[in-house]
Amino acid sequence: MVKVLKFGGSSLADADQFKKVAAIIKAEPERRYVVASAPGKRFSNDIKVTDMLYDCYKLVKKNQPIDDAFALIEERYNGIIKDLGMKLWLQPEFDRIKNAIVHHAGRDYIASRGEYLNSIVLANYIGYDFIDAEDGIFFKENGTLDTEKTNDELTAILEKHEHAVIPGFYGVMPNGTIKTFSRGGSDITGSIVARAIKADIYENWTDVSGMLMADPRCVENPNVIPTITYSELRELSYMGATVMHEDAIFPVREMGIPINIRNTNSPEDSGTMIVSSVESNKVDTVITGVAGKKGFSVIAIEKDMMNSEIGFGRNVLEILENYNLCFEHLPSGIDTMSVIVNDNDFLPHKDAIVNEIKRRTKADSVTVNGGIALIAVVGRGMAGSKGTASRLFKAIAENDINIKMIDQGSSELNIIVGVSEDDYIKALNAIYHEFVK
Ligand code: ASP
Repeated sequence: MVKVLKFGGSSLADADQFKKVAAIIKAEPERRYVVASAPGKRFSNDIKVTDMLYDCYKLVKKNQPIDDAFALIEERYNGIIKDLGMKLWLQPEFDRIKNAIVHHAGRDYIASRGEYLNSIVLANYIGYDFIDAEDGIFFKENGTLDTEKTNDELTAILEKHEHAVIPGFYGVMPNGTIKTFSRGGSDITGSIVARAIKADIYENWTDVSGMLMADPRCVENPNVIPTITYSELRELSYMGATVMHEDAIFPVREMGIPINIRNTNSPEDSGTMIVSSVESNKVDTVITGVAGKKGFSVIAIEKDMMNSEIGFGRNVLEILENYNLCFEHLPSGIDTMSVIVNDNDFLPHKDAIVNEIKRRTKADSVTVNGGIALIAVVGRGMAGSKGTASRLFKAIAENDINIKMIDQGSSELNIIVGVSEDDYIKALNAIYHEFVK
């Protein structure tokens, strides 16, 4: 049995956090490969080392000295080393990195040094080998991951080490320069390592005890989701519920390796298990979670006899396509068609789009209703369980909320409702409390 663990920035922000991490790793002999983030925030207005490194990059760009900014970074690591009582001397590493930054090293190289240095510290502290991500994670010329090469070479390297720490967040381009994933990308490294070593589980250690059934800023004290499938996770993440980097799902999903979201500050909590499928008898609640987003508009189009006009829908969608706009949902009636779009992309072109739809489709009316919030009610337990929709709509109606749009995916995995943004919080609570008693 092999477990791959990834620790986020807050889990490795100071010496006390390092001690918790070491205890977690040592608690099970299967915890053999560890992916580390850069030191994150110790308190709410603290600065992550990754951001401090980006600041150094900006200073060099403006031809300003980085001595003070870089000294703060050295201080972060030296503080951790000293408080852990270690005898690690990182000065030659600091000097080399500082010199590279001053001589205009690439932005990604600079940002990646947070993970690089933190992994050296962690590897030394727990007595694991250090494997540099630049030796095993490869990008293609076009900037996407070279999956095959990475898998082959990383597997070969990992197999040579019984235990190792690998820095998250970066890999190497074909020309040898360092490239990072997007922010939060250490999650992806963890997933890639788990796939390469064919891990039995990928434990993603963070500062929450798993994924919550609803946003705690909207619903008071929501329950943790014990088990969620990759597909459900995707539906909820699309609506803004985040627990890890979205791209971290794919490498392990392919191999059916489960991800376990765990809390470094509360290791006894079992967290959330993300799996490919769950036997139906294991469904705990009809819904797995509820998530939503504000900032949508409905373009409502009406035209007599629309239903028999071939190509009507295509015309409308082609206009959106010309403005590089995705549509979110497309509920329609006999002589009406509604297109739900995201305000950020739509509002800058609103008048032009409405006019073009009118002109091209000769619609009787085209109106735009803004201020819509979309709520996704997600749950594998909804398929085949009768009465979910009626419970959902009744709960919303009893709270005096007007539903502006309904859409149920054919997979029966989710029901989307559109409500006025003013009713958003009320609707989320009505839905959550209907299904979670
Ligand atoms: N340190 C990087 C960031 O702050 C990557 C990570 O933590 O996953 O985005």
